[in-house]
Amino acid sequence: SPLTKASSILIVGAGTWGCSTALHLARRGYTNVTVLDPYPVPSPISAGNDLNKIVELGSSSSDDGNEIFVTRALLDAATNGWLYDPVFAPYYHDTGYIVAATTPEGRRHLDEREDASEATGFEQLMTAEDFRKTMPEGVLTGDFPGWRGWWKRKGAGWAHARKSMESAANEAKRLGVHFVTGSPEGEVKCLLYEEGDVKGVVTAEDTEHRGDRTILCAGANSNALFDFKDQLRPTAWTLAHIRMSPDEAKLYRNLPVLFNIERGFFMEPDEDDSDLKICDEHPGYCNWTTDAMGTRTSTPFANHQIPKEAETRVRGFLREAMPHLADREFSFARICWCADTPDRDFLISKHPDYPSLVLGVGGSGHGFSYIPAIGGFISDCMEGTLDHRIAQSFRWRPETAVGRKWDDLQERFGPDGSNRVMDFQSITEWTTIGPNL
Ligand code: FAD
Repeated sequence: SPLTKASSILIVGAGTWGCSTALHLARRGYTNVTVLDPYPVPSPISAGNDLNKIVELGSSSSDDGNEIFVTRALLDAATNGWLYDPVFAPYYHDTGYIVAATTPEGRRHLDEREDASEATGFEQLMTAEDFRKTMPEGVLTGDFPGWRGWWKRKGAGWAHARKSMESAANEAKRLGVHFVTGSPEGEVKCLLYEEGDVKGVVTAEDTEHRGDRTILCAGANSNALFDFKDQLRPTAWTLAHIRMSPDEAKLYRNLPVLFNIERGFFMEPDEDDSDLKICDEHPGYCNWTTDAMGTRTSTPFANHQIPKEAETRVRGFLREAMPHLADREFSFARICWCADTPDRDFLISKHPDYPSLVLGVGGSGHGFSYIPAIGGFISDCMEGTLDHRIAQSFRWRPETAVGRKWDDLQERFGPDGSNRVMDFQSITEWTTIGPNL
């Protein structure tokens, strides 16, 4: 049926992109939008339910001849949101960003792919002392063995992830979006196929929700709800928290983000509990099973623990940058799932065979920073007005996944021994943190 502002629109998933889409549709005047999720916002399995995420702003004024149109269009739209949209601006912290590497290969990647250079507003960091001086005395106490990097003092930093997502959901609700959350009522079991189209969804208690359009934004779990022809690889990363004292947390206020692409990253401790989040860096974990036909599937699962080897990597990163914290116990940890496309571009597209189905997936490890804007592009896609260059990059593209190399590193790095895509199936030792046991 033709799309009107009164059309019924279903969004599957109230995570990062689902909340953004709900907000954008409501702002465009759609009056019949329903979001379904097995959990209330913030869902414990949403990749966005996190203390912080790295955000880099775009700068239209910089003379970036090689920045391609699509990257710039997305960055500009997101930047606008982080700076000026009252829903998101309170949660963005323009603290600056340090990006570093250790091996020659890692450094080459930094210079070429991350586009870190003086021309793009970065200062070079060559010695351990250079790194230590980027933060107040007593924060970076490490020797930074082999580290080289770049520091951008402004135009990058971090956002409070969970609060940004909750803020988007709350504003969408205020504007009339209906959230059906909890299990079974919000848990989508399958799409509803009729007359060669998708006409809505069926939830876990077998209730049908009919929609004129259905937008699939279930993150890494989208793969279980639709056949993506190998375009999505559910992949998990690992994070841990250390609880700081209030005095320590004061010293750690307004720090730039520190990210070594082969070791890990941290942002300043959170304002509520003084928890310092650290991620160890690696090409990711899949959870592989192989069926009788030899087809490999990576299936997400939740765990508020991380492999012991990830704990070792987190502590290794701390030993190089902040050794005074390297042996502190963790207050929290979890694995966190995202979905990688083969080229790590997003997949925002209608489906060629099902005209009423819109796909908003493929976060590929960098999908959070676009939360202020991504829902606008997904809405454009639904309305058929998405800029053709963006539509081309984010199209339904199964041809790019034929014979997919599932173990491809996808330009990610890890320290020795974990510079490969790992498999949870072979992990026997996990952390034992907290009351979760
Ligand atoms: P999610 O936010 O995961 O949302 C999916 C939603 O679908 C969830 O709410 C879930 O409950 C729901 N759902 C699941 N199953 C069903 C079902 N059957 N029915 C209905 N709903 C369902 N990006 C950055 O930009 N910067 C960073 O610094 C950064 N760091 C990251 C660190 C880690 C450890 C990880 C894992 C990711 C990081 N990312 C980062 C990537 C970013 O978090 C993701 O790309 C983004 O959050 C994906 O959003 P999404 O909406 O696709 O998925």
